Amino acid sequence: MAPFTSFRVTNPSASPDNVRADVLVVGGGPAGSATALLLAAAGHSVVLVDRASFPRDKACSEYMSPEAVRILDRLGVVGALEEAGAVPLAGTMVTAARGARLHGRFALAGHRPFRATGLSISRRILDHRLLLAAREAGVRVLERTAVEALLRDGDGVAGGVIRTADGGRAAIEARLTIGADGLRSVVGRRLGRHRQGGLRRVAFVAHVDRVEGMGDSAEMFVGRRGYLGLNPIGSGRTNVALVVPARRAGAARGRTREFFLEALADFPGVSERVGRGGMARDILATGPFAAWSGRVVADGAALVGDAADFFDPFTGEGIYSALRGAELLAETAGPALVWPGRITAAALAPYRQARRRAFGGKWAVERLIGYGMNFPALFDHAVGRLARRGLAHTLIGVTADFVPARAVLNPVFLARMLL
Ligand SMILES: Cc1cc2nc3c(=O)[nH]c(=O)nc-3n(C[C@H](O)[C@H](O)[C@H](O)COP(=O)(O)OP(=O)(O)OC[C@H]3O[C@@H](n4cnc5c(N)ncnc54)[C@H](O)[C@@H]3O)c2cc1C
Repeated sequence: MAPFTSFRVTNPSASPDNVRADVLVVGGGPAGSATALLLAAAGHSVVLVDRASFPRDKACSEYMSPEAVRILDRLGVVGALEEAGAVPLAGTMVTAARGARLHGRFALAGHRPFRATGLSISRRILDHRLLLAAREAGVRVLERTAVEALLRDGDGVAGGVIRTADGGRAAIEARLTIGADGLRSVVGRRLGRHRQGGLRRVAFVAHVDRVEGMGDSAEMFVGRRGYLGLNPIGSGRTNVALVVPARRAGAARGRTREFFLEALADFPGVSERVGRGGMARDILATGPFAAWSGRVVADGAALVGDAADFFDPFTGEGIYSALRGAELLAETAGPALVWPGRITAAALAPYRQARRRAFGGKWAVERLIGYGMNFPALFDHAVGRLARRGLAHTLIGVTADFVPARAVLNPVFLARMLL
């Protein structure tokens, strides 16, 4: 392997002694922690770095489908999450801009989910619990440590250049570098072929106490200038996520709270329910979304979670995709790491193919819904039809990842939804 040529370690004493590991995982969200945990449990040496200090907040609606819960169960953390106050969710209600409404319940979707309910819990708790589980599995975790660049070895990746909390720089050499660093992935950008879609939306996420009328399901409201999600996250607290076109979000600069409260007025009936509650933390903003990578694997590197792709949060599948992607990556990378040397793109190709098989249908449904919202009359019509014809549970089952996408991506279903 070539020496580190593209940078100099300026403060090695403050650094984690120029670490060498089988795997460097960049990012300690669900994708990074789960991948690190699985590879460490398989006996590989894994270093995970995150620029944040945990527990940390994350802008998210904090809803998990039964299928996401299945994977959390396999990772051994569901008990701890329930003890920490995770609340069961029976399904999702969707209200369109002209008032049509559907209520899909997981238990009625026609395929048996892992459980009849999903779970909801603040990301502060979820992500911290997953990171602790990774640590317990033997992962070396370095917080407040950001990857700034990739170490190159010819055309391949040989690790990362990190900056520690005290400003020191160091190298972490690894046979496989995994970019699990979210929507604005540094690893993804350095690998190239980063793509940004046309549907540019941004989100503002609040935690509000005492929102009136919350039941056992998440609620989505589609308005003419964006959409709003309400999700009960336990202890009488509700996650309120507002998503608007990016061009509108400039008006929030320097006055996020005011913008958020004004935008709520686009959702009559809901604004009163939320407005009478109390804000429990600062509003978090994130976006624009609709970003993905055309290069999920490379020589010595792979992407997982939002770093690989993230379209739109409406269907609430990001955590599931991050966790399932972690499992698929570990299934390919684990056996490849048994052999010496850097992990090649060819050795990682089965991971790319497995992602297409696992997520191809989901990507299509996500886009169908994401673009469909831009046509309020059509969207309202479809929601009304789905509710009247008893198809809402199937659709919610598909977005919750336990009903195959082909159950809705077929001419019969689409005709019943639209005609
Ligand atoms: C408004 C909104 C609502 C959503 N609602 C839901 C929902 O209800 N249900 C659902 O399943 N999904 C939802 N999602 C999607 C979900 O939040 C993401 O898909 C999920 O967080 C992806 O996990 P991840 O591990 O890939 O990335 P992240 O959770 O973003 O974690 C990335 C980590 O990488 C770290 N990092 C970033 N850059 C660096 C660097 N250079 N060096 C070191 N560390 C770095 C960050 O600090 C972070 O901890 C929502 C998203 C949004 C925006």
